[in-house]
Amino acid sequence: MAKASGTNNQSQSAVGEPYFCEECKRNHTKGKIYKEHLNFAKFESVEDKVVDDNIEISDLVSNDDSISKEEEALSYEVEEIEDVDKVIDEDDLDEEVDEDDLDEEIDEDDLDDELENYTDDANACVEAVKKLPGVGEATLKKLIKAGFSSLESIAYTPPTIIQKESGLGDKTIEKLIKASMEKLGIGFKSAEVVWEHRKNIARITSGSQELDNLFGGGIETGCVIEFFGEFRTGKTQLAHQLCVNVQLPKEAGGLNGSALYIDTEGTFRPERIIQMAEGHDLDHKKVLKNIVFGRAYNSDHQVMLVKEATNLIKEKNIKLIIVDSLIGHFRSEYIGRGTLANRQQTINGHLHDLLRLTDIFPDLCVVVTNQVQSKPDVFYGNPTVAAGGNIVAHGSTIRVYLRKGKGEQRVAKMIDAPHLPDGEAVFSITENGIID
Ligand code: ATP
Ligand code: MG
Repeated sequence: MAKASGTNNQSQSAVGEPYFCEECKRNHTKGKIYKEHLNFAKFESVEDKVVDDNIEISDLVSNDDSISKEEEALSYEVEEIEDVDKVIDEDDLDEEVDEDDLDEEIDEDDLDDELENYTDDANACVEAVKKLPGVGEATLKKLIKAGFSSLESIAYTPPTIIQKESGLGDKTIEKLIKASMEKLGIGFKSAEVVWEHRKNIARITSGSQELDNLFGGGIETGCVIEFFGEFRTGKTQLAHQLCVNVQLPKEAGGLNGSALYIDTEGTFRPERIIQMAEGHDLDHKKVLKNIVFGRAYNSDHQVMLVKEATNLIKEKNIKLIIVDSLIGHFRSEYIGRGTLANRQQTINGHLHDLLRLTDIFPDLCVVVTNQVQSKPDVFYGNPTVAAGGNIVAHGSTIRVYLRKGKGEQRVAKMIDAPHLPDGEAVFSITENGIID
């Protein structure tokens, strides 16, 4: 094997400058002389063998006894350079290295493409994130890709989740969260301020005056509402109706917004949306267009869809998210007592993802449906209980139990709400949707 005799002169050329090697009659770059030369030499001696550019120098060094000490030292230099690259890749370096290095790699056009579909509102949020200290193009792109395109989304999400989703380093995230919280003025505030905020809470009509009254004037935004009940009690029908009603103008009981429907059971029916839209004299084509639909094929997929929703909310003006049903997949996938803790933990995380969305977007309403299961130890009264146990009970803000009444009638019972009295409401499911 040819040896890199020219390497003795390498110290005369500065880093980055080409160095002409007499032996292989090629230019080498300082810092890479040994590696390039060795690759060349090996290629020359073994016929037709293609040498991988990323060949492990350390392997070659250990196999060649005749390599001089200088060459060995040089090989360490090469390894060291490679090591530094590795460290930078792993984001273990502090913010400055992180940004500077990656910003070079980033293609600004990529970021522009990403932002092209954003509405003005969404762009304003991104602009605010861009102004956070230490946010370069690369960090910004990573944040946007992971769904953290507003100060709120950064401030309200636990650092471990931001890190997992975006791949940014601990220190960068810590600084970003701190700066976002400062900008948003998150901290203690007087109850008066909270009241001012709650006075302006928006509501979506259910289509039934009685049901709206049970909710204190309609299904409110900024929280997670759970409808649970047996089959055919109207959970899916209510979900469809809310997708139509959220599109109504504010004076008609809507929010002038779009809906995102996550269907885990395959029971979303556009024909029902058309019937309900006609009930309001709305153009059903427009109504259908304003419903973003996602079919979740398993629990992991369901969790992923909710995570992806973050980026769609501003872009599509989404004011309502439906998950129908919340734990169907979890019940069928996690079987046996041994999986219970794991299942509950995943459901808990999923519900918190939804709750966090309502913190980030206070004018967003999240509605989930839930099945019931029988309580074998109940002999008197209602033997059914909402599935999912305490995790779901504590995760949702308002819980309503649905049961069948006479014919098309259904009864809704308020089970738990932080500010509403217990009570019942009767509503009907008709061809044109939910009415009194
Ligand atoms: P599951 O737990 O099985 O998902 P669910 O609570 O979601 O049940 P829905 O699908 O909301 O049940 O309700 C189904 C009921 O809605 C039907 O049994 C029927 O009474 C009523 N319904 C559905 N479509 C129409 C329609 N076009 N016209 C009138 N009523 C309808
Ligand atoms: Mg259903």
